[in-house]
Amino acid sequence: MADRDPSLGIQAQAQAGSNSRIIAAYRGRTARSAELAATAQSLLPSGIAHDSRHVDPYGIYIDRAAGPHKWDVDGNRYIDYFGGHGALILGHCHPEVTEAVTAALTRGTQFGASHGAEIEWAKAIQRLVPSAERVRFTSSGTEATLMALRLARAFTGKDRLVRFMGHFHGWHDHMTSGYSNHYDGSPTPGVLDSVARANLLLPPGDIAAVRAAFAAHDDIAAVILEPTGSSFGQVPLSAEFSQELRALCDAHGVLLVFDEVVTGFRATSGGAQAAFGVRPDLSSFAKIVAGGMPGAAVAGRRDILDLLDFAATEAKGREKIGHPGTFNANPVSAAAGITALGILAETDAADRASATAARLRDGLNDMLAREGVNWAVYGTYSGFHTFLNPEGRKIDPTAFNAAACSMAELKSQPKQLSARLRLALLVHGIDTNGRIGGFTSATHTEADTVETIAGFQGAIHMLRDEGEL
Ligand code: PMP
Repeated sequence: MADRDPSLGIQAQAQAGSNSRIIAAYRGRTARSAELAATAQSLLPSGIAHDSRHVDPYGIYIDRAAGPHKWDVDGNRYIDYFGGHGALILGHCHPEVTEAVTAALTRGTQFGASHGAEIEWAKAIQRLVPSAERVRFTSSGTEATLMALRLARAFTGKDRLVRFMGHFHGWHDHMTSGYSNHYDGSPTPGVLDSVARANLLLPPGDIAAVRAAFAAHDDIAAVILEPTGSSFGQVPLSAEFSQELRALCDAHGVLLVFDEVVTGFRATSGGAQAAFGVRPDLSSFAKIVAGGMPGAAVAGRRDILDLLDFAATEAKGREKIGHPGTFNANPVSAAAGITALGILAETDAADRASATAARLRDGLNDMLAREGVNWAVYGTYSGFHTFLNPEGRKIDPTAFNAAACSMAELKSQPKQLSARLRLALLVHGIDTNGRIGGFTSATHTEADTVETIAGFQGAIHMLRDEGEL
């Protein structure tokens, strides 16, 4: 089958790939999902609510989830590595989180007023992340990075932002170019040219490029990055890079913003900043911070977040940055967040999730080596990524070093191969993200690891039968 061709009609697209046994097996197990997807197409663009849920020919529809597993509307059970886009380090429906959320629901979901839980929530963040001298809650990670960057510009009185190719910081106008395209910094559709061009887009990990940018421009407000590398280390970055950035930022009066939306409370319970020993000026948190509910926060230096403070700005004769937001710190998310962060502070949940991912990566690489497949599974902490070797290099999966590969090589995925692999994994009861990677939680067990390795092997056999490998 050719890759999806926009010039083909829907009928022709359905027929294309009709000789694929993988697609047939997938369709055979997911009839109810197919029906729902067909209806969704008439209501939602592409039938979905988030770009990364786009699956060809259609994605699974989930009915319920528990711990590391989820079940689709056809009754199939999956080992879940999507992990709520990274939010679910404690797995689905953690009993204590569920109890806290249920109790909060009965007391009300929106008070239009302050409440005690937002104070406890901020304390729970501060306990794990000492750089969070002040916390302002938002509803999403996108809003948290948007506010972090606005704070940085207002605080420094400078306009330009430095960011890195491939790093994702949400979908607001300043951060769309250079994530998966527009690496030349040109605007994506609907974004103002002047906004896109106010960023300096640099190659990730290239400290010389940062040094040169700092030397050439005296109007840089901040550097923002995913500290462990884009997409939770798909293109890995070292601790040294962040440490060198910290020193350069200090020397040039530039603020350092850690986007810890994914790494926060996951890389370690104190985030990447604890792992790297780097204290950023500002951090953005989402996902785990709200315990599996919607919610996020920007946190950091008091003097910077004072720009959101009525009295502090008045005292300094500064104009306050406005910040409303109907569901900021909503009490149900607060209850989930407090409980989840409490568990992460008091247990080894984050480390257990990381240890499970390490065993999974090792086991998958051993299996790939046994099968003679020239791919590798790599990653850090509780994440994994599959290198599908687009250039067909000779590699040993058990000794693969992602840091030695270029961003282009790590990010590029043979389109049809990865799409078929994804479906073949789903047929084997394994749900990964579209890049064939994902997150482990503290609830994934050794049995899940063994089943995943066997399922991945089964998926490889299906690909071989189909002539994809
Ligand atoms: N930053 C990073 C590093 C992310 O991974 C994400 C979401 N995947 C965001 C920001 C945006 O968060 P949200 O989806 O909550 O807007």
